[in-house]
Amino acid sequence: MEKTDILSMNKEELTSYIVSLGEPAYRATQVWGWLMKGADIADMKNIPAALKQKLSENAFVATAKIAKKQVSKDGTIKYLYEMHDGEKIESVFMRYKHGNTICISTEAGCPMGCAFCASTLRGLSRRLLPSEMLSQIISTEKDTGERISGIVLMGIGEPLDNYDNVMKFLHLVGSPDGLNIGYRHISLSTCGLVDRIGRLAEENFPITLSISLHAADDETRSSLMPVNKKWNIAELLTACRAYFDKTGRRISFEYTLVRGKNDTVASANKLADVLYKYCSGMPLHVNLIPVNNVVERGFLPSEKSGIEAFAKTLEKRRIVATVRRTLGSDIDASCGQLRSKS
Ligand code: SAH
Repeated sequence: MEKTDILSMNKEELTSYIVSLGEPAYRATQVWGWLMKGADIADMKNIPAALKQKLSENAFVATAKIAKKQVSKDGTIKYLYEMHDGEKIESVFMRYKHGNTICISTEAGCPMGCAFCASTLRGLSRRLLPSEMLSQIISTEKDTGERISGIVLMGIGEPLDNYDNVMKFLHLVGSPDGLNIGYRHISLSTCGLVDRIGRLAEENFPITLSISLHAADDETRSSLMPVNKKWNIAELLTACRAYFDKTGRRISFEYTLVRGKNDTVASANKLADVLYKYCSGMPLHVNLIPVNNVVERGFLPSEKSGIEAFAKTLEKRRIVATVRRTLGSDIDASCGQLRSKS
């Protein structure tokens, strides 16, 4: 019999489950408290031995266990976490002036095949459970002793490829009974699964949607991101427009600058053209990311002067452009460098 994943349950579901084991409902509140602190069944101190016994026979806690921890000179911490079945993923803890943010993985490996990214080198191993996304946060808070107030779903995997589990995770993480992290401090990044962007608009989570755009014409984008062959730029930006119209939430566009590929002033103008064509009237914000080194890939970042010229061109066209500050590059914790090393 498969064991029940109790950390993927909300408080009501956990209560019904505990009652179904023949226990009073208040035990669920105690168990819930332990789960949010990162305890395993054996560590639940005020729970009677008989209930712990029943729980360990029928259920499991999907605890993310630290397999490796690297601390960057800028204070960023990268964790290699081992899941209950031995699968490994990475999470990155970052300290900002406005609070601590964690970058979590949503899948072990990634099926999307982007040309510049390390996470997809070995394809998708499996999708993570809601509990496994939650436990990356709980384990990191436990290890650092610090509260996390922001989350970016920008680690390994494509969040919208693991749609139902990510939605369940979002419900859990924002729950006032649980970690209670505000949706306005949560960003979800996608390579552009257009059908799922439409569904996400209906969910009413006031999160920030980030779109990995990376090119302004289909030929270049398809050469970098295979997903563009399924949904091209026009379809993607039309979906963004519809998302904005439905939710009123700002969308952030990510653009990785690769030397000689998509980083000229002409590319910047093309980007502005295409954003205005499909998304005019929306607040336009482009996050520029100089491509990070991935040894197997060999792409080079643009020169500093090129990056500045690119950003200036966008600004002249009244598009807000920010160059992403690179945290943790000395420990390979930057965008696109996370992998499921075993
Ligand atoms: N699958 C989602 C979530 C990953 S987010 C997505 O594609 O959006 C990670 C971000 O880093 C994405 O914008 C991704 O395109 C970008 N990225 C991947 N590899 C990179 C690299 N080598 N250098 C800079 N950014 C990279």
